[in-house]
Amino acid sequence: MVVEQTKQKGAVVDLRGSTPRVSVADDRAVAFVDLAAENRVLERQLTAAIAGVVERGDFVLGSAVTRFEQEFAAFCEVEHAVGVDSGFSALELLIRAYGIGPGDEVITAANTFMATVGAIQLAGATPVLVDADPLTLNLDPRRVEAVITPRTRGMIPVHLYGQPAEMDPLRVIADRHRLVVIEDACQAHGARYKGRRAGSLGDAAAFSFYPAKNLGAFGDGGMAVTNDAEVADRLRLLRNLGSRVKYHHEVTGFNHRLDSLHAAVLSVKLPHLDSNNQLRRQAAATYFDLLQDLPIELPPVVGDTETVYHLFVIRTDRRRELIEHLSEQRIGVGIHYPIPPHLQPAFPGLGDRGDFPVTETQADRILSLPMHPGLSFADVAWVSQAITEFFERR
Ligand SMILES: *Cc1c(COP(=O)(O)O)cnc(C)c1O
Repeated sequence: MVVEQTKQKGAVVDLRGSTPRVSVADDRAVAFVDLAAENRVLERQLTAAIAGVVERGDFVLGSAVTRFEQEFAAFCEVEHAVGVDSGFSALELLIRAYGIGPGDEVITAANTFMATVGAIQLAGATPVLVDADPLTLNLDPRRVEAVITPRTRGMIPVHLYGQPAEMDPLRVIADRHRLVVIEDACQAHGARYKGRRAGSLGDAAAFSFYPAKNLGAFGDGGMAVTNDAEVADRLRLLRNLGSRVKYHHEVTGFNHRLDSLHAAVLSVKLPHLDSNNQLRRQAAATYFDLLQDLPIELPPVVGDTETVYHLFVIRTDRRRELIEHLSEQRIGVGIHYPIPPHLQPAFPGLGDRGDFPVTETQADRILSLPMHPGLSFADVAWVSQAITEFFERR
């Protein structure tokens, strides 16, 4: 008999038979994400890195920023990385750096977080949405050419949930119509498409270091990456008040700089990103094992891509009841996202109900299960058992 006693709240996993059964103390809970646990492991290095910035006093665009930019560019297998204050800013400044603005159209996914659409709008351009592929829930390349007009200047595919978008067919279309391709890689740090890193697949890419992302700062942060030296140079101007030399302003810029404190923290965390993503994939593999026979849809398995499971999203028509059931067991879940951008009051004119049927239908069915590198086998087994019980009982 194999019984594994985990350290977490007295959970006992019985590994006899094909489906592990979990019995636990009444106080067991599984968090949706667990940032404290992730940081505890690196506490000493994180504290030292922060102390270093405090000692140097170079809080704004200090040496920690330059260093992290170089490290992150190398990680993404690109030439240039420019640290900014959020993923939203990375997207907005990239659009501006390519000279895209009023009168221009930018194509993006109907199924995305509001920031992708918001950045296009804030840069003065017009977002044009394309519905999702029903399997991957990413922007469907088959629907792109139908919305291209003489005003279309760019395309922002989103690697949603950590699953790379179908970049090859998108590149072909972009080249045919001379469009700039900016990846929204804000959920895909470390993902690969045909062996290549997210961030190196388009002309440029935007990353977010919001704390709950696969690589997270101690607050807001972001990065724009590209192989184009001119674009990188414009990004540096735009993020820093249009200034190269202090008090000399070449263009109207913004204050969108990455703080040195965040950069120092991110330098400590970056070397662990690949192994943390591997832990996410292990947790996902366990979910796949334990949930495969249930009447739910599991995340897509797409050949020649390496997803990083920023989120583990299942689909069910009985979402409301299932959320209730899981909440009773103190299992943290989320919905990413309950209302698509075109149905938000913030974005009138992007489309009516019924215009993006895949996105709209799936918005009512998607459910994000607990997913983070600290998730133990027992945690995943416990969540899976709770879901199994729900479908067996009713
Ligand atoms: C998080 C996220 C963003 C924005 O990043 P922030 O750092 O929160 O501004 C943009 N797009 C997607 C898909 C995201 O998940």
